[in-house]
Amino acid sequence: MIRPAPLTLPDGPVLVVAPHPDDETLGCGGLIAAAVARGLATHVLFVTDGGASHPGSRAWPRARLARRREAEAEEALRRLGAGGAPRTFLRLPDAGMPPRGSPAHAEALGTVTRLVRDLGPALVLLPWRRDPHRDHRDAWALATEALARAPARPEVLEYAIWLDELGAPEDHPAATEMEPVSLRVSPEVKRGALRAHASQLGLLVEDDPTGFVLGPATIDRLTGPEEIYWRPCER
Ligand SMILES: [Zn+2]
Repeated sequence: MIRPAPLTLPDGPVLVVAPHPDDETLGCGGLIAAAVARGLATHVLFVTDGGASHPGSRAWPRARLARRREAEAEEALRRLGAGGAPRTFLRLPDAGMPPRGSPAHAEALGTVTRLVRDLGPALVLLPWRRDPHRDHRDAWALATEALARAPARPEVLEYAIWLDELGAPEDHPAATEMEPVSLRVSPEVKRGALRAHASQLGLLVEDDPTGFVLGPATIDRLTGPEEIYWRPCER
């Protein structure tokens, strides 16, 4: 990868689009902390409810787990210094976002479109468009459609979560497609916030051995001293 250029924060509002609770911290926690510290209006949009991570658990059925994950996201934002920052929980089904053309999709698109219009973001952080996780791609598509309806065009940067571990060669950004930018961040702040997502760290659900657990390699990769974002190349 070419050496990323340093990312400069804008002077206006920031919108962070997180497909699941925990992506905000893993992908953008450092930027959220920096934006809030600078006094920028920072809004985090959680797209899915995260309720599909432990489908085998009897103690944590989907609705209970979804509520828990929302509380974990609230706590993570607080630890990032963003406790007072506005956030929206869209509560679409984890691992099953409604297809384009469905009433549920239209409703979600309307909500995101209004959010973009009301916030007027100068910078939008989206999940990587070809992330191997389908919810990440669907969240990118939903937000991109809403942004296309906005009166102004904000700067859009994309962050990859599962690309390096699970991506096929064609999933990666082409050199003529995207250029990387990086932001120096505090690994300690990110890791502190990530610990709020106990359900994803194997610390909460005890009756689903096949449930999702964030592995140490993933955590190390995504909580280092810099966050990498991808900016579309000028055409
Ligand atoms: Zn995710």
